[in-house]
Order: sequence, then C-alpha cells, then structure tokens
Amino acid sequence: MKTNNYIEKSENAILHTYNRYQIVLEKGEGVYLYDVDGKKYLDFAAGIAVNCLGYGHPTYTKALQEQAKKLTHISNLYYNTPMMEAGEKVKKASGMEKVFFTNSGAEAIEGALKAAKKYAFCRDGHAGHSVIAMNHSFHGRTVGALSVTGNAHYREAFEPLMGGVKFADFNDLDSVKAQLDPSVCAIITETVQGEGGIYPASQEFLEGLRQLCDEHDILLILDEIQCGMGRTGDYFAWQGYNVKPDIMTCAKALGGGVPVGAFVLGAKAAAHSLEPGDHGTTYGGNPLACAAVRAVLDIYEQEKIVEHVRELTPYLEKRLDELIQEYPCVKTRRGKGFMQGLVIDGRPVGEVVNRALENNLLVISAGTDVLRLVPPLIIEKQHIDEMIEKLKDSLN
Ligand SMILES: *Cc1c(COP(=O)(O)O)cnc(C)c1O
Repeated sequence: MKTNNYIEKSENAILHTYNRYQIVLEKGEGVYLYDVDGKKYLDFAAGIAVNCLGYGHPTYTKALQEQAKKLTHISNLYYNTPMMEAGEKVKKASGMEKVFFTNSGAEAIEGALKAAKKYAFCRDGHAGHSVIAMNHSFHGRTVGALSVTGNAHYREAFEPLMGGVKFADFNDLDSVKAQLDPSVCAIITETVQGEGGIYPASQEFLEGLRQLCDEHDILLILDEIQCGMGRTGDYFAWQGYNVKPDIMTCAKALGGGVPVGAFVLGAKAAAHSLEPGDHGTTYGGNPLACAAVRAVLDIYEQEKIVEHVRELTPYLEKRLDELIQEYPCVKTRRGKGFMQGLVIDGRPVGEVVNRALENNLLVISAGTDVLRLVPPLIIEKQHIDEMIEKLKDSLN
C-alpha cells in the first residue's frame, strides 16, 4: 500500500484546505483513472467538469507535447499564434466579439467584473457602481469572485469583500427587480448553477434578465465556467436558451485539463470597456495554455463532441430516472446534458460518494444533498451502464 505513505507525506507539505478522498491518483486512460496501488476507477467527476476529453486523448496529448517543445511562455508583451487561433475558435463557438484569456475561472470572473465596472464608468463618467449576484451561486475563491458568490459560509471570515454587491434569488425575476437601482452596472449568474446544487436557469428568468439589462443598459454576465464547453449539449448553455450575454466567463473544460479560463465580451462590452493599461496577466493565455484550448476546440469539431453529448443525454437521463423509481433515497433529478444532479434524501450525500469510491466510481457532491455527475464528454452508453451498476451497489 503506497497510498497511506503518500497521503501522510502530502499532508506534511501541502496546506490542509481540502478534506481529500483517501486515494492517490497516478494515471488515466479514456474515462478511467488508476491509483498508485493499481485500482481502476470509472470517472464521472472529470476533475470537477474539467477533463472533457477524458485522459490521454492522442490528438490533445500530441498538441501539448509539440507546443511544449516550441514555447510554453512569452508574456503578453508579444504576440503568439496559439493565442490567436484559440481566440478565433472561441469567437466562432460563441458568436461573441473579443476574448481575454486567464489562468483560472476565478480570474475570468475578476476580469468580467472589471469590464462591467469600466463599461459603466465610461458611460457615466464616474465610479461607484454595484452588481447584482444570486443566492447559492458560486463564482470562485478570489476576493472579487467571492464577493459575488452567494454562500455566506465561504465569505464570512473574509469580509469586508468587494463592496456594492446585492443578492437576489436565482430563477426569481421579481427578486432581481427589487435590487435594481441606477448604481447597478451588471447582473451576474451561472446559466446552470453548479456548486449550488445543479439548478438550470428557467427560460423566463434568463429572458427576463436579458430584457432588464437591455432596458437599463446593464451588462448581463453569464458564468459558463462549469456548464459551458458542450456540457449541456450546446457549446455554451446560454445558446440553448437563445439568450446572449454581454460577457461570458469560461474555464474548467476550456483547456481540457491545462489551467486556462477566459472572459469573452460581446460587441457592446468589447467596444466600451477595458483598454490598454486597464487589465493584465503575466501567464494568462500563454502559448501552452492556448495550444490546449486550440486542440480542445479542434477535437470538438472533428469528433462532434457537442452533438455526442446531445445524442447520449436522453439515455443518461432515462437511466438516472430509473434509479429514482427504484431507490426511495434518490428523490429527484435536475440538470442538462452531462451536468446532472440527483437529490439524495434520508442519508448524507457524502456517504454515497464514499461508497461509490469503494465501488470504483468517482462522483462528487454539490450543495448539501446533491450527487453530481459531470463525466468526461466522451463517455459512451456502456460507461453509463457501468456507472448505474456501480451507483446501485453504492445505494444498496
Ligand atoms: C469552478 C467554478 C468557478 C471558479 O473556477 P476556478 O478555476 O476554480 O477559479 C467559477 N464559477 C463556476 C460556475 C465554477 O463552477
């Protein structure tokens, strides 16, 4: 057993900010992971909705190897071709106007907030604008991103955070209207709430937000960090609602496992917000990260990944709905595409996650009572069947 030894050494060196599952993962292949003791796991967590292409995808791996041989970093003082091509591909997939690459999701949120504040500053000639965010949202752990995260427990010790944030209820347009005043420069929400428990926005809510923003010249920021990049069966979840944001944030699956995020601006926000000197990053969008983005989007096109999610979703949903019939502790299902949550009743969801781990299945939780399934987007029917069997063993 190498596992215990490695865990002890890790806890010695690494700041204990996570209560990690007691396994040490070493390598992956397709949709399977292997730990240091050789145990094999079916992965329905994908590194928290990141590893969209699973593990060891040959085209992706080759693209990274080739870029690593050429250049990994040059700073943003010079141009590089992977960034140009990755930017073009994100533009094409989103139909939006301009891309700023970051190193993480939280940094994409920071940039989106700054762009919205700058837009209002240009319009009004003064600062002091506020933002409406949603209860039970999650936007990241940096100070700005935490300020718009609707989870008091994550925020408490770090107050005061960024000022001027007001919270409304997700999927409740009236609660948003109640927070509206002339200081508001942006409304920020996930299109599908992830950490908060897998809640898709309702059609009326998103359409209502779009209308409010248009009426008051407020920017709509949609956080697609978890639900974007094909996971819901569209490149970006908002495309399924036909409600276009002014700013979109992206990360997680964007680089297929290489740390990279982006905030993407529509024409209006791109033309009237951040200018040279307003924002920057040393690493953001470096050639290695952008080669990953470029490869991911190339593979999406070649292998029709988004269509695959769309085709297989009814089968995944059907198998999950059968569980609800069979197991009283599985109350309901929520989600879209390959972003699914099962509401667990009468036993702690953490216990189910741990039982699944013992049964060689990686799943995660969301909120207090939701079992979250966010598999690599390359899963096939047989993996869904295998997941269901393992989950049944874990629920018994
Ligand atoms: C994960 C996540 C973030 C934060 O991304 P990091 O890369 O961890 O900083 C922000 N928003 C949503 C919706 C997320 O799921």
